[in-house]
Amino acid sequence: MSEMEHSDCPFCDINQADTKYYSINPFLVVIRCNFCNVPVVVLNRHTMIPTSTEKLAMVSALSAIADRIYGVCGWKINRTQKIAPGHVHWHAEAVDGTV
Ligand SMILES: [Zn+2]
Ligand SMILES: [Zn+2]
Repeated sequence: MSEMEHSDCPFCDINQADTKYYSINPFLVVIRCNFCNVPVVVLNRHTMIPTSTEKLAMVSALSAIADRIYGVCGWKINRTQKIAPGHVHWHAEAVDGTV
């Protein structure tokens, strides 16, 4: 599997001052999506195919934030890829459609 050059990646070039970070760890970040205005977990690694360990880490990092924002049963994961091409990412959206 070949890795993209970081300089060609809009997500790696993201202006961190303009982005709200909910949590950061060596594998992933949870940020507020600048387009959808909802929490989104983004894998740091360039892949669209996370390992099972990475999937668990993504769900647990996103849950920690989304449970706080929406309430424990108030949200769902949207796995549609909308931003950050090259990095798998999942949005947390309110089940009732509100942000
Ligand atoms: Zn990148
Ligand atoms: Zn978004």
